[in-house]
Amino acid sequence: MIKCVSILGSTGSIGRQSLDVLEKLPISVAALTAGSNVERMAEQCRRFRPRLAVMATREAAEALQKELAGLPIRISWGEKGLIEAATVPEADCVITAVVGMVGLKPTLAAIREKKRIGLANKETLVCAGELVMAEAEKHGAEIIPVDSEHSAIFQCIMGIRDRREIRRLILTCSGGPFFAMAPEDLSKVTKADALKHPNWKMGPKITVDCATLMNKGLEVIEAMRLYRLPLEKVGVVIHRQSVVHSLVETVDGAMLAQLGTPDMRLPIQLALTYPHRLECPVERLDLTSCGSLSFCKPDPEAFPCLKLAMECAKAGGTACPALNGANEAAVALFLKDKIGFYDIYRLVSLAVSKVPFLPQPSLEEILDADRLARQIVNDAFVSMK
Ligand code: NDP
Ligand code: MG
Repeated sequence: MIKCVSILGSTGSIGRQSLDVLEKLPISVAALTAGSNVERMAEQCRRFRPRLAVMATREAAEALQKELAGLPIRISWGEKGLIEAATVPEADCVITAVVGMVGLKPTLAAIREKKRIGLANKETLVCAGELVMAEAEKHGAEIIPVDSEHSAIFQCIMGIRDRREIRRLILTCSGGPFFAMAPEDLSKVTKADALKHPNWKMGPKITVDCATLMNKGLEVIEAMRLYRLPLEKVGVVIHRQSVVHSLVETVDGAMLAQLGTPDMRLPIQLALTYPHRLECPVERLDLTSCGSLSFCKPDPEAFPCLKLAMECAKAGGTACPALNGANEAAVALFLKDKIGFYDIYRLVSLAVSKVPFLPQPSLEEILDADRLARQIVNDAFVSMK
């Protein structure tokens, strides 16, 4: 079992739940990182005593230094700091719980040090999944998914000896807060409406992605990369209750599923204890009181981001980092109340159509596609005003 971890993004939703899980296990903390939340980071450092603490900016790092004066904790900042946190020698596992493409370089650095990756940061696999998986194979680094759907698939696949026996993966999707709403009503929804997820409590970016269904599109790409399957073998069904976390259909027609109450602490813990399972403080699922389970198809007209993501998944190459970078930029504008709900789709689809397509991009070309997509979104926003 893992003995020591680094958590990238420890002050966020997944980061805090990771600390909650490992506090109950004989696992120590080597490094913690955050963006700007100095207060929460200082609290975590006093409690978990990492060797290294990293903030996104020099100013935030200086403020943390003042808070932690006298403690034997080294403080760093920026991309260099994130890479240091991902590669500290003591850690045998890195939980990637930062949000966004900022997680890519540290994840690659941790893989090169042969660390186990507890992968929550899906944007990394969406943008550069082929490179990340190839590096993991080359260095013998394990990637254990934390995203609930991919963990469910991972758990179902644990019993399948030959990957050729998989017919398809089925990702379940709660449908988000706007399930069954008509496009004319959706065009009027606000940030506050989008941030009310029916089943999961998560950070703001992924919560908006769940409202547009972009999250499910990103997860389709994540599943294709993790399990090396073509788009035709990854399906999506709406399942409002979030009890069935995803399914695997085998060639003989069997459907394997993982069920449970919606609680990320189970997949987080499994990423740390795999191949073993330990007691976990999650609420148990009571089958006789969880009600009936429903499944239906997503509506591509009302939620065009899912369709757009599927098109990018099919195209591959730079279409995926363009999609992701544009989405990060557009969601950031939506979260600042600068654009409407469907503007997210309009801006992302514009960027995807404008970023030059390369079928097998290098890391630099992926980073360029990401930068250009963000710029197209921000320029288009300025001209909308
Ligand atoms: P949060 O927004 O709650 O947390 C994000 C973390 O990243 C925080 O620690 C934040 O620091 C840090 N951060 C933000 N921006 C930067 C930056 N520029 N540089 C360095 N650090 C930064 O996100 P979630 O925990 O919800 O999600 C994290 C990842 O996990 C995402 O990729 C998401 O898609 C994925 N995921 C999340 C799930 C969930 O249940 N929350 C489920 C499945 C996947 P600060 O607090 O200082 O801002
Ligand atoms: Mg998920």
